[in-house]
Parts: sequence; structure tokens; C-alpha cells
Amino acid sequence: MDEKYEHIFFDLDRTLWDFDENSKKVLNDIYVNFKLNDSISSSNLFVVKYQEINEYLWGLYRDDKLTKEELRWKRFKDTLLYFNISDKELPIHMGDYYIENSPIQTLLFPNSIEVLDYLSKKYKLHIITNGFEEVQHIKLKESGLRDYFDVLIFSESAGVKKPHPYIFKKALKKAGAKSSNSIMIGDDLYADIYGAQRVNMDNIYFNPNKTEHDKYVQYEINCLSKLFEIL
Ligand SMILES: [Mg+2]
Repeated sequence: MDEKYEHIFFDLDRTLWDFDENSKKVLNDIYVNFKLNDSISSSNLFVVKYQEINEYLWGLYRDDKLTKEELRWKRFKDTLLYFNISDKELPIHMGDYYIENSPIQTLLFPNSIEVLDYLSKKYKLHIITNGFEEVQHIKLKESGLRDYFDVLIFSESAGVKKPHPYIFKKALKKAGAKSSNSIMIGDDLYADIYGAQRVNMDNIYFNPNKTEHDKYVQYEINCLSKLFEIL
């Protein structure tokens, strides 16, 4: 145990909650339920293209170049357009379906619960997330994570998204923490790691796919179980 720390701030999506696998499950359901097999030869093609488009549009959302409402349907509209499906209503229905069904998925990264059981006995745990607030609440509850966390900070209510220093400062204040006794754990080098560095908070980069990078990070782990050694 590192005596230095009292507070641990976690990112949620792709750090504890397995966003990609949970999302894939719902996208497969969309492929079947909206009968996309008439126009797109495999569910996997649909999923891969959606993920590519969604990632690009999320970047725009994070930079405030796209609203939450636009993001919800535009990611489906653009995916369908790629497959030459032009429809005004369909992307909206798909967006609604996705938002309703995605947060009730419960797949977590391996060892999430074991690690949280261990850490919650030694530290105060908190969440800082850029995800949609009402959606994140459902995910936390459905996946059994809610009770591990003290303070939850959402970019929507903070008014800015990670890596903006204000959301980290707000989280520290609400938790009664200081950057000097806190550490941030997240999967995003920009939002989580650079964000933490901007407020002089220690950081752990969760990199389950061992993606290569050239950024300075304090600690890097590819499995949450490594937290048993660090903290
Ligand atoms: Mg994340």
C-alpha cells in the first residue's frame, strides 16, 4: 500500500465498464432487430464501421463541436450512409434503442470487483466521467459498481470535459481531496492521464490492449489486478 494516497479517482468507460464489448452486444442486437442484414452483409461490418464513426464523432463532442443530441443519431446516420442506406427516421430509432439498452449491459473488465473490494477498504474511491450523466448512473447501478464510490463527477454537470483542469479540481474539492494525496486511473491518455497531469495528480494508465504510445505516464497497467501491487 502506498501511504501517500487517500483518494483514487477512476474513469468509468473502458476502465471498469467494458464499453467496447457491451456496445458490441447492443450493436449486434440493432443489426438483427432493425433487419440490417438486407443491406449489410454481416453484423461485424456494421459494428466496425459504427465504432470508427462513433470514435470520430465522440472527438467532436468532446471538443464541443457536436451536441449530445446530435451525437446520438448522427453516429447511426453516418454509419447507414456508408452502407448506402439513407433514412431520416431509422437513425433516430437506432439511437434511442442504443441509449436505452447500452447502459443495462453489465460486462466489466476482469478483476474489477475484486480490485474495488480491495481498494475500497483502504482508500476513498470516486468516478470522473465524460459519459452522459443519466446513462452513467444506470451503468453504475446495473453493474453493481455504485456502492464502491463516494463522489461521482460528470462532465455534463461540471460544464467541461476531461482533460479540462476544472473538472479535476471540482472532483478534488467535492471529495475533500488534494492532488497530492490522489491518483487518477483511466484508459485515455488525453482525457485521463494528461488531464490528471495538468492538475499535478499522479496517474495510472490502463492499457489493456497494450497500445503503443510515446507519452509520459506514471504507471501503466494492462490488467486491473496490477493495482494490487501499486496500491
Ligand atoms: Mg475511458
